Order: sequence, then C-alpha cells, then structure tokens
Amino acid sequence: MKELIISNLSKTYSSGVQALKNIDLTIRTGMFGLLGPNGAGKSTLMRTIATLQDPDSGSITYNGMDIIKEKHELRKVLGLLPQEFDFYPRITAWEMMMHFAALKGIRSARDRKEAVEQFLKIVNLYSDKSRKIGGFSGGMKQRLGIAQALLGNPEIIIVDEPTAGLDPKERHHFHNILSEIGQEKIVILSTHIVDDVSELCSSMAIINKGEVKMTSNPLGAIEHIKGKIWRKLIEKNTIDQYRELNIISNRLFTGKLMIHIISETDPGNDFSPVDPNLEDVYFSTIPHNEVI
Ligand code: ADP
Repeated sequence: MKELIISNLSKTYSSGVQALKNIDLTIRTGMFGLLGPNGAGKSTLMRTIATLQDPDSGSITYNGMDIIKEKHELRKVLGLLPQEFDFYPRITAWEMMMHFAALKGIRSARDRKEAVEQFLKIVNLYSDKSRKIGGFSGGMKQRLGIAQALLGNPEIIIVDEPTAGLDPKERHHFHNILSEIGQEKIVILSTHIVDDVSELCSSMAIINKGEVKMTSNPLGAIEHIKGKIWRKLIEKNTIDQYRELNIISNRLFTGKLMIHIISETDPGNDFSPVDPNLEDVYFSTIPHNEVI
C-alpha cells in the first residue's frame, strides 16, 4: 500500500497569513477529498505536496521517502492538474499532449504516440485530437488536463478545484474519469464542493483556516451525526428567534428559510429529524458564515 504521510506541516506567507497550521494527514491509495472553503489553505497544501513550494516546518514522506528533500523523487511519480489549466489555444489536443509527453521524459516518438493515444481515449477526447484547444469547452479542457496528468503513469495525482465552472453533464463525465483512475492510484481532490467529495472519495479531510478540522470517510462522518440534525422551514424575518440554537446552515427554499440545526436531543418547536448528508457534516464542522 502506497502512503503519503504529512506531519506537522506549517506555512506562513510573508504577508503574515498562516496558511497551514501543523497539518497532519495520511493519504493512501484511492480517492482522497480535501474539502474546505476558499482561503482554507487547500492550494497551499496541494502545491507543497506537489513540491512546488516549501513549507516552513514539518515533513512529507512518500513510502518513507522525504519528498521535501528529494523533490525529484516525487516529481517522477506525480501527475498534476493545476487550478488553472490552460494552454496555447491555437495548438491541437494532440500537439499539446505530444509536447507534455516529451516533457515527462517519454523518449521514443513511438512511445509518446502510444501514450498520447491511450490517455486521449481514456478521457474520451481521441476523436477531438485534431481540434484546437481554444475551441474546447471547460469540461473538455479539464479532461485534457487529466490526460496530460496521466502521462508517464504517475502514482499520485493531484487535482486542484477541478469542477468549478463545469456544467452538470461535464462534471459527471469528469467524475467518472476520476473514479476510474482512483482505483489504483492516490488521487487527491481539492475542492470546496461537498458533492464532489461525497460522490467520489473514500476518505477525506475538512480543512479551514489552515487547520485540519476532521479526517474521516464520508460514510463514517455522516454516521457520526446521525440523529443529531434537525430542520425547520421558517419565515426569513424570524431567524433571530432561533439564534440560541446551534444553526449549522440556512438556505432559501420556496422563498422561506430552511434551517438545519445540530442537537443531541429533540429540540421540539416543530423541528423534524433529518437524514444527514455530507453537507451537514461539512456545515457542522465549519461555521456556516465561514463557508463561501
Ligand atoms: P484555498 O486553496 O483553500 O482557497 P490558499 O492555499 O489559496 O487556500 O490560501 C490560504 C491563505 O493563504 C489565504 O488567506 C490566501 O490569501 C493566502 N495565500 C495564498 N497564497 C499566498 C501567497 N502567495 N502569498 C500570500 N498569501 C497567500
């Protein structure tokens, strides 16, 4: 079993923002979801794991190897889909992939062609290989991003905020590809979208303000709050009456407010029990007003 172990990792930017505070995480083969609101520190952590920036303190080991010291060892086994994956719009998907295949060190032209063909097929872009990237939809660009991340058969794939801006169909397609890949690799998916994690990840961490707030698997985390989440549909202007309750979320529903609260016991007052989902876990872990 491959293992990425992050211990006591901290990072403060020169601006004074402490983006990571003593992060401890163990990530194994399969899909790992790193869930947190904007500014939580996800990208900083992703960039540090990808060896693109150094922490101030702490360590990251991969199968016992110190990857902060031995960056090249990690880079050999890493595929990265960065947050902003864009490329020269005037070149074709095939040309871009051939270029990346060369960068990844696939030496023979025949091997390059074979790999490019294989991965374009996996992400379902082979029939679009001669089209210019500039004409691709957001979802096609993300799939192309995954195809380039797969070149060189990496053992670890890092995907930073991949589904922001994708329409539901594209997102579904992208999820299917990721879950295929996640069977035998470590795939780390950083996202602020709860559904991305609940649909894909067998283990997860929630981070906020540079700290790990919980690590679990989605089912275990949901099980943990079972029987404790209650909801009520209220008039918007009456929310002040509920302030003393532990409100974890509120959202508009048919012009009114649907509030969810967490309570060990039945709060009465016309609240009904909720079969919780991962969103309830997320909101009960992170104060609602901090989730953007
Ligand atoms: P996320 O990916 O979860 O949105 P980031 O890792 O991008 O979080 O940011 C964490 C915090 O660090 C934020 O407060 C952000 O403004 C700050 N930050 C990120 N990158 C830099 C940087 N290069 N210089 C200074 N502050 C940064």
